[in-house]
Amino acid sequence: MITPENFRLRFRLFVLVLLLSITGGNVFSQSPNYQIYALKFASLNFKVPIAAMAVGSASKDSTGVCYMIYLLKGDNGKLILVDAGFTEPIKPYPSQAFTYIRPDSMLMKININPRDITDVIITHPHWDHIGGIDLFPNAMVWMQKEDFNYFVGAAWQKGEDPNNGFNPIDVNKIIEKNLTGKLNLVKGDSVEITPGVRVFIGSKHTFECQYVLVVSGAAKVIIASDNSYLYYNLANLLSIPITLDQKAYLQNLKRMRGMVKNIDLILPGHDPLVFSKFPKVTDGVVKIK
Ligand SMILES: [Zn+2]
Repeated sequence: MITPENFRLRFRLFVLVLLLSITGGNVFSQSPNYQIYALKFASLNFKVPIAAMAVGSASKDSTGVCYMIYLLKGDNGKLILVDAGFTEPIKPYPSQAFTYIRPDSMLMKININPRDITDVIITHPHWDHIGGIDLFPNAMVWMQKEDFNYFVGAAWQKGEDPNNGFNPIDVNKIIEKNLTGKLNLVKGDSVEITPGVRVFIGSKHTFECQYVLVVSGAAKVIIASDNSYLYYNLANLLSIPITLDQKAYLQNLKRMRGMVKNIDLILPGHDPLVFSKFPKVTDGVVKIK
């Protein structure tokens, strides 16, 4: 007997079978899988007191400081970088302060051709994060619209902070990307860049910095960049000194901690510990997942 109840049930079963046949059974796993690598392309040749990188810290210890890019290698053909590194230090940093390998050369160490990079997500336009964008000529660059606007505009007006950590050459580089249709401005918090890769607004390290959540299968990884310099900032909930809003910065450290199971999977912007916590692939490269 066909009652309205079992008709509805049959209809639902029919829809489910249809979905499974269209998607090959992949209804529940549409996101691609990503392999995630950290690549260290530079290190400071001296140590820095932890207290100088964590406001309110009583630590007497010092730490090394490194500079990283991240590679997300999707099984959908995407080769996404988070940040582009730098090609030359800005003043007052002398180049002797660094041990340095150009970011594109680091990628070649793991057999990635820089021309094959499909996307570069810029967390913020400080010289050490954006300066390498011209090394990846075919990549679509993604950055927050408000961060871009400030970087190319108001940052250079009279009365603004002259020690802003921006390199004027990088302004030209990002404008060039825009003029050639290779810049995508992201508007706001929790925006999906591509399936499995989502950006969130951080707390005012620059005008509108962002960080990246990668969801791959059951794994969740945050690439925090300078939304936390060190694991120490995350573990002790201590702000870095360079932020326009320290209270909000702390709130955001808490938010990141609520997004993943394990604090190790929130990858800080400048912490050499990243390279001892994860399996080594080759010198300066570890596989996060
Ligand atoms: Zn920065």
